[in-house]
Amino acid sequence: MGPPPRNQPNDRETSREVTSVTDCLFCKIVKKEIPANFLYEDEDVVAFEDRNPQAPVHVLVVPKKHVASLNDLGPEEDAVAGKLLRVAAAIARERGVDESGWRAVVNVNRDGGQLVFHVHLHCLGGRPMFWPPG
Ligand code: AMP
Ligand code: ZN
Repeated sequence: MGPPPRNQPNDRETSREVTSVTDCLFCKIVKKEIPANFLYEDEDVVAFEDRNPQAPVHVLVVPKKHVASLNDLGPEEDAVAGKLLRVAAAIARERGVDESGWRAVVNVNRDGGQLVFHVHLHCLGGRPMFWPPG
């Protein structure tokens, strides 16, 4: 099986992305221009508390590089995409929900409920999660 298809940006999408890098809320948090409760930082990713937590543990793990959504990930992001999962698992362990269970969520675009167009992984735990998700 070959690599998954990647969305090819057209001119409009490219300019939308340039605009969103300068306006992007999570880019500003990454650059410490907007405050957040940071739990983790390395050269590739940051993790901070969600401002509007939906569970006792609700942490966002965010790549430092601006990528608008999972649809826009390229092969050059394979390593950092893996790191998002590993850091989320480390945070779940640190918060003591690794054994009880937790959920990793990435919302994509309108139907996925994405509100901030800079890829992020929600690490949610500390209460039972439901399936199917709402
Ligand atoms: P999503 O709907 O997947 O795009 O999730 C965006 C998340 O970002 C929501 O859970 C918001 O509560 C969270 N959020 C928005 N602004 C901030 C902020 N300034 N600091 C921390 N979390 C935020
Ligand atoms: Zn951004």
